[in-house]
Amino acid sequence: MSLTVLNPATEEAIATLEQAGVDETDAAVRLAHAAFPAWRAVSPADRGRLLRRLATLVEEHHEELARIESENVGKPISGARGEVGMVADVFHFYAGAVDKKHGETIPVAGGIDMTFREPLGVVGLIVPWNFPLNISSWKLGPALACGNTVVLKPAELTPLSALRLGELALEAGIPEGVLNVVVGKGSVVGQRLVEHPDVAKIGFTGSTEVGRSVMEGVAATIKRVTLELGGKSANVVFADADLEKAAAAAPYAVFDNAGQDCCARSRILVERSAYDRFADLLVAATRSIVVGDPSSDSTEMGPLISAQHRDTVAGVVDGATLYRGETPAGKGFWYPCTIVEASNDDRIAREEVFGPVAALIPFDDEADAIQIANDTPYGLSGSIWTQNGSRALRVARALDTGVLSINSNSSVRVSTPFGGFKQSGFGRELGMHGLDGYSEVKNVYYSTEG
Ligand code: NAD
Repeated sequence: MSLTVLNPATEEAIATLEQAGVDETDAAVRLAHAAFPAWRAVSPADRGRLLRRLATLVEEHHEELARIESENVGKPISGARGEVGMVADVFHFYAGAVDKKHGETIPVAGGIDMTFREPLGVVGLIVPWNFPLNISSWKLGPALACGNTVVLKPAELTPLSALRLGELALEAGIPEGVLNVVVGKGSVVGQRLVEHPDVAKIGFTGSTEVGRSVMEGVAATIKRVTLELGGKSANVVFADADLEKAAAAAPYAVFDNAGQDCCARSRILVERSAYDRFADLLVAATRSIVVGDPSSDSTEMGPLISAQHRDTVAGVVDGATLYRGETPAGKGFWYPCTIVEASNDDRIAREEVFGPVAALIPFDDEADAIQIANDTPYGLSGSIWTQNGSRALRVARALDTGVLSINSNSSVRVSTPFGGFKQSGFGRELGMHGLDGYSEVKNVYYSTEG
């Protein structure tokens, strides 16, 4: 069956691809399985060199990759350029990290005990459509660095950048079979990877709902699994914060990537005494967001990924609308920047809308802020705005979430761990922590007696 890939800003077809089925998925796993012994035997420094070459090729093809991503996801070209820059940095980071994850020697009686980090084998990487290349690289970097071979399954809606990356990996000299990209349905290709006895681990990013079924599926073969799932993060603004700065930054923490961001701070919690002032500043800042043609350098927000997703977003928006922006007329899956005044019990504050919709929620004091922020099944990201340093750290420790920023909304970096608490998943990507999910600790005791 063929797959038509659309540009969400124009609704035009930009590619038609053959979709893989179970047989093609099995063939890719066979290739990866066959390539594993030789790849794990490549010296760490040489694996690093190959990853470094891939990073350099990504840099050389920076504009091409950014345009592919912008057209296929509908994301503004400026954002896509930043993301491709991060992809190169991720491969550079893991190129350098390959030989820096050391084992241990542990004092024991009668001999020497040592640990090794062994690769897992074939890993299945399943990624979503919102940051296709970025999220692929977060998994590929540590997986390949540790000596695993890979079958990468991009989302059906956005397969183009992953396919191009697969070509660049071959050009970089990464041997055939080490990185295999398979395009097809989650219920077919993804499901087969989850079930396949020769796949040792699933690295999954996507919705909590599908993550749950992946977790159930891997139980049959006791596969390793890491899950990066949904979020409903809180942006907590205390009255003593620099309100102008917090309000100027808040729209970009929700409306970036049209809100299709697992880290979106889509619940904006504001201390009651500063609520009215903050609401005015927030609306003014949101009004200035440039929505339109993703290929224009000045555009800050593009369309949603699909007509179906636009219907889903529209179906969740209720409550008193504080602000609703404009969208371009004509074709494209547009949805306006929307701010709704809500309570934390409202549906808009409980569900991951995954669109450009923010819920503004008042709180009374520090304890109330912590209670509301934690009152969600998710625990991925969040922000704290205050000029009181003790409070900032107190609240940071109290929030049940994996990735936080203080007086900033930026908490994703190449060298620092990223991942969720609660139903936002488990396992960490990026930084040195990312290597843990793609290697297994082996303990060896060597007797020195006799
Ligand atoms: P999704 O769960 O629908 O799909 C994710 C991937 O899983 C796709 O490649 C899909 O084809 C595949 N898939 C679907 N059904 C499957 C099955 N039965 N078995 C195996 N694979 C299957 O998610 P989406 O709509 O593509 O992405 C949006 C979601 O991803 C949001 O919930 C968002 O929060 C989440 N997300 C999380 C992070 C994070 O790091 N925590 C990052 C980005 C997106």
